[in-house]
Amino acid sequence: MPDSLARVSRAVVDCERCPRLRRWCREAARTKVKRFQDQEYWGRPVPGFGDPRARLLVVGLAPAAHGGNRTGRVFTGDRSGDFLFAALHRGGFARQPESLARDDGQRLRDCYIAPVARCAPPANKPTPAEIARCREYLAREWALLKRVRAILVLGRIAMDGFLAMLRETGRPLPPRLEFTHGAAHDLGAGVRLFCSYHVSQQNTFTGRLTPRSFDAVLGKVKRHLAAEDHG
Ligand code: SF4
Repeated sequence: MPDSLARVSRAVVDCERCPRLRRWCREAARTKVKRFQDQEYWGRPVPGFGDPRARLLVVGLAPAAHGGNRTGRVFTGDRSGDFLFAALHRGGFARQPESLARDDGQRLRDCYIAPVARCAPPANKPTPAEIARCREYLAREWALLKRVRAILVLGRIAMDGFLAMLRETGRPLPPRLEFTHGAAHDLGAGVRLFCSYHVSQQNTFTGRLTPRSFDAVLGKVKRHLAAEDHG
């Protein structure tokens, strides 16, 4: 049977490959935090989300214990998601500026979001082995999202995870691609990789990443996609 995004999502949700992460997610879902005590947590791996015809792929790190691990959708129900979806909405990629719950009516247009690890990790840090174990899902999505021409990586770990996946597909790549906020790299065949600091509170609360500096990167993405349209 041919692969599909729905099949990948089902496989992700049932995945138990990383015992440490599965324990952590279940425990966070059981204990909860005070402000969400009355909510039922998702507590399972979180699949990718977005438009199957996307030309922009946003690659994140991993769900948050009380965000995606609670709501069951990437960047949904936490401050990182507030920042990201507001920006995607300003850029015309999201129907709504908020991302609150799986049934909030949010839709992505021309954009798909996929993290390099699909389970919330302790201290927001998946191990390299856990990211490697999860790579199959990103690879399957990459193979299915045939229209993607721009990849926006959120942070260096997301960039490394994405490039490792791409190397495994046999795509020739330069040995080292620099990560700095705003950097862009040509990956051949009209595909370009764009780098941004991660949208975590650590960056957005300290002013390291601002709506303006994120919009500047999204602006580059949009110009590239527009140029591809006319190319
Ligand atoms: S991180 Fe990925 S590979 Fe590991 S258990 Fe979660 S979904 Fe499975």
